[in-house]
Amino acid sequence: MKKLPRRSCLQKITPYEPGKPVEELERELGLKNVIKMASNENPLGPSPMALEAVQRFLSGINFYPDGNAYLLKKDLAAYLGLQEENIIFGNGADELITLVGAAYLNPGDEIIMAHPSFSCYEFSALLMDAVPRHIPTKNFSFDLEAMAAAVTDRTKVIFICNPNNPTGTIVTHSQLESFLNSLPPEILVVIDEAYNEYVTDPDYPSSLALLDEGRNVLILRTFSKIYGLAGLRIGYGLAPREIIEDLNTVREPFNVNAVAQVAARAALKDKQHLLAGRELNRRAKEYFYREFERLDLNYVPTQSNFIFVDVKVNSRELYQSLLRKGIIVRPGDIFGYPQFLRISFGTEEQNRRFFQALEESLKELSSKKK
Ligand SMILES: *Cc1c(COP(=O)(O)O)cnc(C)c1O
Repeated sequence: MKKLPRRSCLQKITPYEPGKPVEELERELGLKNVIKMASNENPLGPSPMALEAVQRFLSGINFYPDGNAYLLKKDLAAYLGLQEENIIFGNGADELITLVGAAYLNPGDEIIMAHPSFSCYEFSALLMDAVPRHIPTKNFSFDLEAMAAAVTDRTKVIFICNPNNPTGTIVTHSQLESFLNSLPPEILVVIDEAYNEYVTDPDYPSSLALLDEGRNVLILRTFSKIYGLAGLRIGYGLAPREIIEDLNTVREPFNVNAVAQVAARAALKDKQHLLAGRELNRRAKEYFYREFERLDLNYVPTQSNFIFVDVKVNSRELYQSLLRKGIIVRPGDIFGYPQFLRISFGTEEQNRRFFQALEESLKELSSKKK
């Protein structure tokens, strides 16, 4: 077979390393009861209302989905108090990030993102032969001054991950507002709010108000996290009508599947599930803080459903050791922090199992070193 001439950008793209699926680890190690605390999924599972809606709907999957997601869009517009023309759905918010690149990035254009932050932003740039500029976080928070200073006449898009994945920190409303005021207005600012439902800090931005002010922002949200529908792949973007139109131009006609649309409509109505998810998360956070303090490990206070912690050892080795005990987390090396772990909060039982395993693994690693 003759080797195909690939596009040159393929050399620059590092394949995404996803959280290991539970079934894969169970197969590999012959384990049972593996728990995954690696991809920030909702440990309570999907909304029961969404499950029921999906089951009722399934006999209709011979039909193509509504490419315009008419019913869901209507529901979401009412829920958020927005116009339907300000909404776009994606096959996960991830797809919308790729569509931003497809709509706005020419070869040689630049995007600005933080480091560490969500790797999909970089992917969307590299895929279009654009250049990602990484601005180091300061104290694990966005350095907005440095990000503004990195703007050039090639800058097209800036990604603000809020709360930031993997650090769990936020940009406040006043910080975001002065940042936007300092930028040339023809730059698109993507505000990724995949975890907004978990935030408890009262200074968290009212991003919908920024939309009302007519700014060039795209707010991203998802049904994958607190709504517990990660496996169905559905997220959404909120923006001025002109931006939504641009994204629709580069979107596949049937990008969001019919089952996901039905599930999302039902999940949106399930207030109880949302509140239960928040409450579980609040208690988990307290427990993690307490346990890390007991173990004398420094963590980054989080506004999200995961936590970034300095484990003071090689986190890839610690990750492997935890895998052998049936616990999947995220090693920090994939974010450029080889001594950190990112752990998604689980159920109370999962959290207890995690700390039991963590203590054992840390002991094993330190005795091996001696
Ligand atoms: C999980 C996540 C998303 C969205 O995920 P989808 O499943 O594609 O909707 C977006 N941004 C960040 C920062 C995330 O962590």
